Amino acid sequence: MADSHSPLTSTDRPHPDRRGPARPVYVIGAGPGGLSVAAALRGRGVRAVVLERSDHVGASWRGHYDRLHLHTTRRLSALPGLAMPRSFGRWVARDNVVRYLEKYAEHHDLDVVTGVEVTRLERAPDGAGWLLRATGGRALAGRAVVVATGYNHTPHLPDWPGADSYPGELIHASSYRAPGPYAGKDVLVVGVGNTGAEIAVDLVEGGAARVRLAVRTAPHIVRRSTAGWPAQRSAILCRRLPVPVVDRLGRVLARVSVPDLSAHGLPRPATGLYSRVREGAIPVQDVGLIDAVRAGRVEPVAAVEAFEDGKVVLADGSRVGPDAVIAATGYRRALEPLLGHLGVLDARGRPRVHGARTAPEAPGLYFTGFTNPISGTLRELRLDAGRIARAVARSKA
Ligand SMILES: Cc1cc2nc3c(=O)[nH]c(=O)nc-3n(C[C@H](O)[C@H](O)[C@H](O)COP(=O)(O)OP(=O)(O)OC[C@H]3O[C@@H](n4cnc5c(N)ncnc54)[C@H](O)[C@@H]3O)c2cc1C
Repeated sequence: MADSHSPLTSTDRPHPDRRGPARPVYVIGAGPGGLSVAAALRGRGVRAVVLERSDHVGASWRGHYDRLHLHTTRRLSALPGLAMPRSFGRWVARDNVVRYLEKYAEHHDLDVVTGVEVTRLERAPDGAGWLLRATGGRALAGRAVVVATGYNHTPHLPDWPGADSYPGELIHASSYRAPGPYAGKDVLVVGVGNTGAEIAVDLVEGGAARVRLAVRTAPHIVRRSTAGWPAQRSAILCRRLPVPVVDRLGRVLARVSVPDLSAHGLPRPATGLYSRVREGAIPVQDVGLIDAVRAGRVEPVAAVEAFEDGKVVLADGSRVGPDAVIAATGYRRALEPLLGHLGVLDARGRPRVHGARTAPEAPGLYFTGFTNPISGTLRELRLDAGRIARAVARSKA
């Protein structure tokens, strides 16, 4: 990793007026997406500089809760050009993901500049490439730009009425690390995606006195693996099949492999598995939720509607008074300040193109990591890295 931990100085800062092929390709974000594109570009002889706002590569992974393991397999989660060590096991722990990303940047000798936040993208005045406005008054000229700032960029807390005056602890799941501070406490986890489900189980195992899980829409729950066969491989196989077919297969699989939890407050979902994926909700991988719900140690309750008189008001009209509320309510892409003015985002703030495709009004502007595929994001980041590098190299030719 060439420039890591050293901000661009006035001497090594690429001059905005530099023309043509000498301009590097800038990659914004040193997470798995940005690093893999940079490695793939380097592999094709294209100079790439990764700009990272934090002080390290893999900032998102450093911030995740302690218990987290990949729910995609080690093999299917490796980035281009470097396998994950066997010693990491099949389901890689968070700390090892971070170690791997550090090693990855070093192994490919990537040019990563930390402590630089890109604030705005503009077309270069000469029309050849892009101008990146960054912290410290920097203006960097690149022949192309790859945006890899992350699907999970900015924690999202719903605009619950009364939340501001709630006297109890209310945090977003991104601030949750470990169950220790909640031992002996009554905790309400809001949202039953993978994060909410896992934090609920973590709290139970960590000695919380009571754990409730607020559920708006019943999730699809799948076993992480069945008889050694990982759910991720089934997802990859099913990906190209028609939605109704996968919905049907999902229903059959759920009936054989996942017990009916309706009596415990978690009914089977009304909408099919792949239909939900298309709406943006990937299935919950079971890492203990099923057993915890059956044992009554995680209690599903209705969705949160508001906070009132020190209580949490649920959608069924009931009120609960937990010591702490942990909102596993997702993230926003937050791309608007960076490039909202370029007309390349859809109504939900997501890029209209991704991978090797670029928008006609923004040639040379690539995006990676802004989808939430069931086949595994890391796997898709690896595939997109190759596609983007090929497209950039071709455009150079
Ligand atoms: C809890 C959790 C568990 C997950 N588990 C899995 C899993 O098991 N398997 C799987 O395949 N996927 C998983 N994912 C999804 C995905 O693989 C990860 O979110 C992954 O980190 C995405 O990589 P990324 O590079 O796109 O984004 P990130 O890892 O978020 O990296 C983005 C980087 O960009 C930087 N940045 C942001 N804005 C700017 C800016 N303006 N200027 C400069 N730098 C900027 C950030 O600091 C960050 O370092 C998980 C996600 C979460 C949240």
